Amino acid sequence: MITTYHRPKTLDEALTLLTQPNTVPLGGGTLLSKGTPDSVSVVDLQLLKLDSINKKGNDLEIGATCTLQTLLESEHCPEALKTALKLETPLNIRNSATVAGTIVSSDGRSTFVTMLLSMDAKIDGRPLTVDRPSSTVFGLSEFILTKPKTLITSISIPLNVKTAFEYVSKTPADKPIVCASLTQWNSGRTRLTLGGFGGNPMLAMDGTESNGVEEAARNAYHEANDEWASAEYRAEMAAVLSKRCLENL
Ligand SMILES: Cc1cc2nc3c(=O)[nH]c(=O)nc-3n(C[C@H](O)[C@H](O)[C@H](O)COP(=O)(O)OP(=O)(O)OC[C@H]3O[C@@H](n4cnc5c(N)ncnc54)[C@H](O)[C@@H]3O)c2cc1C
Repeated sequence: MITTYHRPKTLDEALTLLTQPNTVPLGGGTLLSKGTPDSVSVVDLQLLKLDSINKKGNDLEIGATCTLQTLLESEHCPEALKTALKLETPLNIRNSATVAGTIVSSDGRSTFVTMLLSMDAKIDGRPLTVDRPSSTVFGLSEFILTKPKTLITSISIPLNVKTAFEYVSKTPADKPIVCASLTQWNSGRTRLTLGGFGGNPMLAMDGTESNGVEEAARNAYHEANDEWASAEYRAEMAAVLSKRCLENL
């Protein structure tokens, strides 16, 4: 239950508030506004002007409070990322949910984070400690695995890459049981990530070329068993989807 609400006008003010106990950032509030037994103080980020999308050289810098729908409608948003965003959550939620809030609250079924992870997205944030360290950049892999106590300010993705996203789900609009995302750089570097299972999307391969993506996908999901699908099914589908991604690049 939200018991205290703050709406700071500056980042400094927000950071000071966020070092207090039981105080968390409020993005779109779609998750935080759901009732919980514990009381929590929230710091609404909406006045901090962290909602812009800027092309900077070969990168796209996405502000933390940019909504999923604003990103989807951006002229710079790669097509594969648009597909992943549409599957993440329906339009009404996409209109409120922010990119940072979605990353922080994501699990292995997040199509958005699966896609960002294959693009080797970088998170820019301010660690929430009293000594107030300056801005810190995390790889998304590290961020979702370690969940550092940090105020995310922006997320960067490369634009000079080829990307593909493929999935299988019970219905076309359902969250995928298995999804694969492939990103390839001009150098040949190829990153394959899988989603649809577990606590976080999984990095299946980060190689200097695309050889071996199918095998990497099969191996990564050989124990991906839950109530939605068996590991055998997921491993086989992951291999098929990664092959399709490669063909679609
Ligand atoms: C009706 C409904 C349906 C939903 N359906 C789905 C669904 O289908 N799939 C799904 O995955 N989710 C779903 N959700 C959950 C929710 O929409 C997502 O988790 C959402 O993307 C959260 O984004 P937000 O900006 O609203 O986060 P908030 O609710 O504002 O915050 C979520 C978490 O992120 C933290 N946070 C927010 N901003 C920052 C920041 N800048 N830096 C650090 N931490 C931050 C908050 O402190 C909190 O812990 C649904 C929610 C509702 C209400």
